[in-house]
Amino acid sequence: MVRHIKFAAAIFIAFAICTGAAMSASHDDTIAASGGAIEIHAIYHASLMLTWNGKHILIDPAPQKDAGADPAAEFRALPKPDLILYTHDHGDHFNVAILEAVAGADTAILAPQKVYDAIPPALQARTHVMANGANTTVDGIAVEAVPAYNTTPERTKFHPKGEGNGYILTLGGKRIFIAGDTEETPENAHLDNIDAAFLPMNQPYTETVEAAAKWVKDFKPHIVYPYHFRNADGTMSDLDVFKKDVGTAAEVRVLEWY
Ligand code: ZN
Ligand code: ZN
Repeated sequence: MVRHIKFAAAIFIAFAICTGAAMSASHDDTIAASGGAIEIHAIYHASLMLTWNGKHILIDPAPQKDAGADPAAEFRALPKPDLILYTHDHGDHFNVAILEAVAGADTAILAPQKVYDAIPPALQARTHVMANGANTTVDGIAVEAVPAYNTTPERTKFHPKGEGNGYILTLGGKRIFIAGDTEETPENAHLDNIDAAFLPMNQPYTETVEAAAKWVKDFKPHIVYPYHFRNADGTMSDLDVFKKDVGTAAEVRVLEWY
């Protein structure tokens, strides 16, 4: 009898460890920085919020695949953003109804020209257009726009050069790179001194996990967050292959994006 109880306990513990491991991915993470930690909140696919020193930065707020009648509800529940960044105008990155729902009276917006053109006039008034390579500072936060585009010939139609941006934000001395929808390009292949990088890896729109891992080895960010990894066919890219290929070149942190 005692043996049976011990056996059952061992099974239970093994089960708890296994399920605990499976459920370990979280929407939230932190990175140490001067002036307080940078809080990272993975919302969905390409949408995320960064919070540092009381400032909320919302990136590419867009609807969940199964958002229902009110796709803005999830975003309305978040703190009002001080700054919204858009990488490009695709529906999984930019949505007018969500922008109108979340932009407060003091929210600044940074966007490429094509997104600006799609923003309603009242909100265009506080949108600053960022061309590839442009730099600006909002509320003391330095922002640099890095070109985001496809380089593989059969994919250039998805993200032509010149339309989209990735962004490097400097928060508390840390350089955070949000790549946008891109592949490794001459402009982003060797970015200097990146503390954390959000890299897309879905098919057929951005990169394979193998190509993304090769890119990580080229620029060696300290931390990599895979994001935007749901493929067009509904499957997820294999992040285990990505981690294995990255090896010791960077710390890979997997958050719950879906
Ligand atoms: Zn896109
Ligand atoms: Zn996308």
